[in-house]
Amino acid sequence: MVTKSRSLTLNKLSSLLIKLIGLTLSGLMLYILFKRNFLVKSVSSKPANLQPPVINTKNITSSQPEQIDLSSWQYILVNYDHPVTQEFIDNLKLVNTPEGYGPQLKVDERIYPQLEQMLSAAKADGVELYICSAFRSVDYQTKLFNNKVDEQLNRGLSKEQAIEEAASWVAKPGCSEHHTGLALDIVAPSHRTLDDDFETTNAFAWLYKNSPKYGFILRYPKNKKDITHVNYEPWHFRFVGDKAQEITDSGLCLEEYFSKIKQI
Ligand SMILES: [Zn+2]
Repeated sequence: MVTKSRSLTLNKLSSLLIKLIGLTLSGLMLYILFKRNFLVKSVSSKPANLQPPVINTKNITSSQPEQIDLSSWQYILVNYDHPVTQEFIDNLKLVNTPEGYGPQLKVDERIYPQLEQMLSAAKADGVELYICSAFRSVDYQTKLFNNKVDEQLNRGLSKEQAIEEAASWVAKPGCSEHHTGLALDIVAPSHRTLDDDFETTNAFAWLYKNSPKYGFILRYPKNKKDITHVNYEPWHFRFVGDKAQEITDSGLCLEEYFSKIKQI
């Protein structure tokens, strides 16, 4: 009896154990299935993250330039139609250009720090720069201009034609940006000629890319002669300060940029 009841108990226990194992296994399977399904869902939900991000229009910078005070010294406009004023010249404080970059020339003291930084940065990048022109007095400009006019007269042009042609190469006295002390002609020691070939040098490539970081713009870009009255000059850089990168990126010449500002 005792043996029978013990074997009955054992049978009950083993069937209970089998049930338990069965339950555990089915629970485990359910868990695996659930987990797998969940993972698949997670993976399948990934492409949703690849959808284009929602564009926050508040972060897009407008192509419309910001309003600036055009009467500020760094925005002085000197060109064919806008001669420099005697007042501006009288208030100029000139300092020598940094040493080691060509002849000792003069610039407005307010642009010296950034000019010096730009020249040092070029040197650190292994690029040699040579400043061949900076501030020019009206008298000196008169000499340069008259020489250019004589050159054109010798080519057989009439006086009127000679003056007009000369003005696209050398600004009329009083109308040169060099009177402001904010403009420089920068070339390379190995390429001191002011010609279009300067744009093939690594000095030009460096200046074109980096000069806006120091407040300078390429003042007479290609295809802007109708507006600037000046031929393309890959060597002529003009200080404008903080807006240099924006002006450069806009593809506008200074006259166009200023007229856009005036429309705001
Ligand atoms: Zn120049």
